[in-house]
Amino acid sequence: MTDSNATLLERAVIPPAVLEVVRGLLTAGHQAFLVGGCVRDILRAEPPKDFDLATSATPAQVQQAFARVIPTGIEHGTVTVVVRGVHVEVTTFRAEAEYLDGRRPSKVEFHTDIEADLSRRDFTINAMAFDPVSRRLVDPFGGQADLAAKTIRCVRSAMERFLEDGLRAMRAVRFATVLGYSIEPQTEAAIPKTLHVFGKVATERINQEFTKLLLAPLAPEGFELTRRTGLLAEFLPEALDVEPHVIGRAPVDLVVRLAVLLHACSTARDVVLRLKYPVKTATDVAHVVAHQVLPPGDAPAAGLRRWLAAVKPEFAAPIFELAKARGFDVAALEGRVRDVLATNPPLTTKALALNGSQIMTALGVGPSPVIGQATQHLLQQVLDEPGLNTPEGLTGLLSSWKSPV
Ligand code: ATP
Ligand code: MG
Repeated sequence: MTDSNATLLERAVIPPAVLEVVRGLLTAGHQAFLVGGCVRDILRAEPPKDFDLATSATPAQVQQAFARVIPTGIEHGTVTVVVRGVHVEVTTFRAEAEYLDGRRPSKVEFHTDIEADLSRRDFTINAMAFDPVSRRLVDPFGGQADLAAKTIRCVRSAMERFLEDGLRAMRAVRFATVLGYSIEPQTEAAIPKTLHVFGKVATERINQEFTKLLLAPLAPEGFELTRRTGLLAEFLPEALDVEPHVIGRAPVDLVVRLAVLLHACSTARDVVLRLKYPVKTATDVAHVVAHQVLPPGDAPAAGLRRWLAAVKPEFAAPIFELAKARGFDVAALEGRVRDVLATNPPLTTKALALNGSQIMTALGVGPSPVIGQATQHLLQQVLDEPGLNTPEGLTGLLSSWKSPV
């Protein structure tokens, strides 16, 4: 271990609740380690997002050692220990040998050996363990060296790891993108050869990795990597022709970045749903894509108000972001739209100075389709001339209005 890594581990800030669980397990005669992402992040001098523990104790033994234990994923060997109100995930050492169809392991075997547990993990930088009491680091696969070299490398044979679980190929690309690392050549070369297994991975799992990639500062490079390795053609062939730098010009916003990827796709909503994003995300992306054609730069203010009424004002910003990402010079038009919005013009029937029952009274009729027509008529008039949106102004308009039916 280098001096600087020793220093990083020495100074690592580990939550007291996590230390208490480690001590509790050690006292009961078991082994206990911090594992995975948190060890990697400590050695990168980044604060870990969460602290996962691995132990030689079986789930039943963990339950015996603490007063409050929730069996969150007991069939995979994971329980949640609650100390001082803090939840700490503890997973029994396992080594998953057998995989079916690149899905979940067909059976989970518990082990008493931390190295066996580390050997089932995806990348060398994620396959280190740290005992925070004895301050011992376990790094059997050269994770520290790969961190120093900024390299994503599979634990043992990349081909075998990707054939066991196809998601790992996408995770390699995601970690490279988020961390700004390169993928070691043999690891990258194994991706195109194992795409048939990637193709069987549940879309929900791909979604998690892809979303992290798409919102990372190096998203353009990550996107190019998904294309180069063949992953993109498997889960998002609709975006194969997108230029990576266009993604980088879009803000870090999921709806805008998905709209960038799907701007030329006529079925954007279905595609976003297929990728297992929420219905609202799919609807918003499709709305931005459908309304990406902007009004002409010299459109009169009334034209801009009509456009805002059609796209809904909250979509003006993402629609402009998409246009700018695609390289259109829309600054002048955007400024004019901002000026129009600053006057807070009436853009919906709700914003009219008369409500439905007041319109009925003014027309001297009860509820009927005529009211809807009258309301639309008033909206069209005030979009042209917002100054007319007063009770008197609208009543005047209604007195000269004739129902088309
Ligand atoms: P992040 O900070 O992005 O959450 P992480 O390393 O914590 O990164 P997780 O997806 O939370 O990533 O997984 C935790 C650990 O579990 C990983 O560090 C890795 O050791 C292991 N792991 C997760 N998914 C896989 C997988 N598909 N195959 C093998 N090991 C995995
Ligand atoms: Mg994690």
